[in-house]
Amino acid sequence: MTKTPLTLYLAAPRGFCAGVDRAIKIVEMALEKWGAPVYVRHEIVHNKYVVDGLREKGAVFVKELDNCPNDRPVIFSAHGVPKAVPAEAARREMIYVDATCPLVSKVHIEAERHHANGLQMVMIGHAGHPETIGTMGQLPHGEVILVETEEDVAQITPRDPEKLAFITQTTLSVDDTAGIVAALQARFPTIVGPHKEDICYATTNRQGAVKAMAPKADAMLVIGAPNSSNSKRLVEVGRSAGCAYAQLVQRAEDIDWRALEGIGSIGITAGASAPEVLVNEVIDAFRDRFDVTLEQVETAVENVEFKVPRVLREPA
Ligand code: SF4
Repeated sequence: MTKTPLTLYLAAPRGFCAGVDRAIKIVEMALEKWGAPVYVRHEIVHNKYVVDGLREKGAVFVKELDNCPNDRPVIFSAHGVPKAVPAEAARREMIYVDATCPLVSKVHIEAERHHANGLQMVMIGHAGHPETIGTMGQLPHGEVILVETEEDVAQITPRDPEKLAFITQTTLSVDDTAGIVAALQARFPTIVGPHKEDICYATTNRQGAVKAMAPKADAMLVIGAPNSSNSKRLVEVGRSAGCAYAQLVQRAEDIDWRALEGIGSIGITAGASAPEVLVNEVIDAFRDRFDVTLEQVETAVENVEFKVPRVLREPA
């Protein structure tokens, strides 16, 4: 049977970022150094395939530190943790390794610096996301006001409107965040903040590639987990850039082939916590059904790498 021709646009950059790569390495190296089990507070990164793979090697994923014994190492996820968590691990004299992405830690430091200068913080982020909880947890309760939308900006009641600074989650939509920052600056003209926002290079670059790819594609798939903030933003960016059908899939088995009937082109990308093996699985699934011509849509080249903490580079 002759297969229908299909142009498959592959976004670049896509998939793993330096922070995710480092966090996974940290768990693997901790298992090598201390043996199994090694406890991990929360999913180390938001991807079931990655988490299941590490679980098979001996990682035990738990919700809270209370679920970890004192005598086994514990790792904190790439999203960051409230200050109280490492403090509690130290009190219990546990071995702990912090896999917080250095770009999230940078935002934590910014928040502390502004707080030390007497400023109250406004955080642009998603309520309930581990990164937001971790970042807000760097400062005492009430010192960080969360806003999720431009509408929220009109509702907040800071202690002193002239003594404010803002920070952002690292995985937000670049365009939506620009609108919220503008609303903050309009209402609080003296608000202090980063040059643009704290959205990381990986989020920005993946969104940039989707913006270039989406208008050419009849449909678009983002490989990523339903709880992955940066992956969900890629779907939204794809839709706003002109691709009417943009969907999140965890892997090939999630693809709704009936919805893709009649397409001549497909755009594929992957969130920062989705491994390349799942991208290849999806490409293979398209090759099984279509006569695929693959075209890479490259908008940036990344060469960022973060070192693992020293404790893992030293012998046991
Ligand atoms: S998405 Fe950005 S902030 Fe999050 S882990 Fe990756 S590099 Fe770090």
